Amino acid sequence: MECKWISCHEVFQSVVELSEHVRTAHVEPMSTHDVFVCLWEGCKVFDKPSLSHSWLSKHVNAHTGVKPFKCMISGCSMTFSSREGLARHVPSHFNDSKPAKRQRSENDSSPKKVMKKKKKKIRILRQAKPPAQGWSAACNYHLISLPFQKV
Ligand SMILES: [Zn+2]
Ligand SMILES: [Zn+2]
Ligand SMILES: [Zn+2]
Repeated sequence: MECKWISCHEVFQSVVELSEHVRTAHVEPMSTHDVFVCLWEGCKVFDKPSLSHSWLSKHVNAHTGVKPFKCMISGCSMTFSSREGLARHVPSHFNDSKPAKRQRSENDSSPKKVMKKKKKKIRILRQAKPPAQGWSAACNYHLISLPFQKV
C-alpha cells in the first residue's frame, strides 16, 4: 500500500497502517489551517479547499481503501467507506428482498393464456357442387366464381 499523498510515497503493509498514516501525517496537520485539501495524486478534488475537517478525514478513506462503516446486520459482512454507502445498503435487509425477482417468476408461472384468436374463420363460400355439365362448364364455373370466393 503506497501513500500517494503528494511528495510522500511511503509504503505500508496494510490498509489500516496506511489510513492511520494519512490521518496523522497529512490530514491532522491541516487542523492548524483554515482549509483542508486532499493532495492525493489523481484525486478528483485534488487541491480543492474544503472547510470541513470531517469531510477530509472521511474522504481520504476512499483513497486508502479503508472502510470503517460496517453493516451491523448479523450475517452480513459488508463494509463501506462512507456512512452514505452504508445507509443505502442497510435498508436492503429490510425490504422484502428481491421482490422483483419473485414477482417475475410468479408471473412466468401463471398461465397467461389470453391468446387472442387472431384467426377469423375464413368462410369459404364454396358452393358444394359446380353444375355438372361437363368439364368445361365446371372449369368456367371456377374461373368465374374464384374472384368472389376471396372475400
Ligand atoms: Zn503519506
Ligand atoms: Zn482525495
Ligand atoms: Zn448488510
